[in-house]
Amino acid sequence: MDKALERGQNLGCEAIQIFAGNPRGWKRRELMAEEVEEARRLKAGYKIAPMVVHTPYLLNLASPDEELFRRSSSLLLDDVKRAEAIGAEYLVLHPGSHQGAGVERGLERVSEALTALFSAYHPRVQILLENTAGGGSELGGSILQLAVIARGVPEGYRIGLCFDTCHAFAAGYDLTKEEGWQEVLTEIKAGFGLERLRLLHVNDAVGECGSHLDRHTHIGTGSLGRRGFGLMMKQKPLQALPAILETPVDTPEDDRRNLAAIREIWREVQEEKE
Ligand SMILES: [Zn+2]
Repeated sequence: MDKALERGQNLGCEAIQIFAGNPRGWKRRELMAEEVEEARRLKAGYKIAPMVVHTPYLLNLASPDEELFRRSSSLLLDDVKRAEAIGAEYLVLHPGSHQGAGVERGLERVSEALTALFSAYHPRVQILLENTAGGGSELGGSILQLAVIARGVPEGYRIGLCFDTCHAFAAGYDLTKEEGWQEVLTEIKAGFGLERLRLLHVNDAVGECGSHLDRHTHIGTGSLGRRGFGLMMKQKPLQALPAILETPVDTPEDDRRNLAAIREIWREVQEEKE
């Protein structure tokens, strides 16, 4: 964690996203008090905000399998506590896959897991549901599906939204067109309210619109291209949001290049306006 924060600071990041444990396994060691202290100290010193924790990939709260559901629920609680310990503002959660139980049952299951979590623990970190590329039994390709999950959680626990550009495009929102962005914003307004959209994941896409292919690529080089991100920057409700790059790191210079590319598009949109 301290390395991630340092790397972020060196790259000129204002926001950062990390894993609070092994992203691909169930086993995790306890966080040590010194690590937690160091993460808090660096976050404050570097003025990084928000700091976002991403839940591990294995977690599936939509699963009909009792054992997987139980393990996922307890891993989520552990991540919530870790995120709070290090002073993160948000915890990003994928809705998971219904694995044949059906969309409706899958969504209900996620709401149940979140409701159980909230009845046992009152988190200070805000949980954000992330839209996905959809396809197969994966939930969350549509923003309105995520809204069903959020509505299934008791009042007072405001589930927020993290919007991923690559996933949305792969799921079928055509973000290379103004209409695609209008569709997204209309669904967010209807399903969540714009104030509950808290974070952007800014990634270009390898696949075509509607391909359901969850493969991120470098800003401006994929199917979204500079045009798609230019349109994104023009959407007023998105302009003040923190954004995280989840672009590939094939060479050590990739993060720097992608940051420069997205900031250049932002500058161009600002200059056009003047
Ligand atoms: Zn993402």
